[in-house]
Amino acid sequence: MSCLFCKIISKEIPAKTVYEDDTVMAFEDLNPQAPVHILIIPKKHIATSLDISDEDNELIGLLYQAANRIARDKKVADKGFRTVMNCNREAGQTVFHIHLHLLAGRAMQWPPG
Ligand code: 5GP
Ligand code: ZN
Repeated sequence: MSCLFCKIISKEIPAKTVYEDDTVMAFEDLNPQAPVHILIIPKKHIATSLDISDEDNELIGLLYQAANRIARDKKVADKGFRTVMNCNREAGQTVFHIHLHLLAGRAMQWPPG
């Protein structure tokens, strides 16, 4: 398995983990775009959001639950934060293992670039 995020899950590649349970892992983005920039990933390899199947419905909810927990822990929940999942190249997806970006700690622009 050559997937970068699967290697982070297996600890083959180090990451600054902020949350982990049986199904989900969250770690700091290597190239942060905001004071808080965390990636939340399922331990199951799913390449893009287009590959989410019925059996993953609960898992996707758990990604958001983890994001909420981290946002509260980092004290950014009330001020506001953004969760983003890019799908395929034109949206900016570069790692083909789904991940929710949690961005916070500065005012966000809308529409996003
Ligand atoms: P995407 O562009 O696919 O939506 O997001 C991929 C994210 O993974 C980028 O924000 C990038 O900075 C981050 N990233 C790429 N390689 C690594 C790595 O080895 N470790 C960590 N922690 N983040 C990475
Ligand atoms: Zn993977």
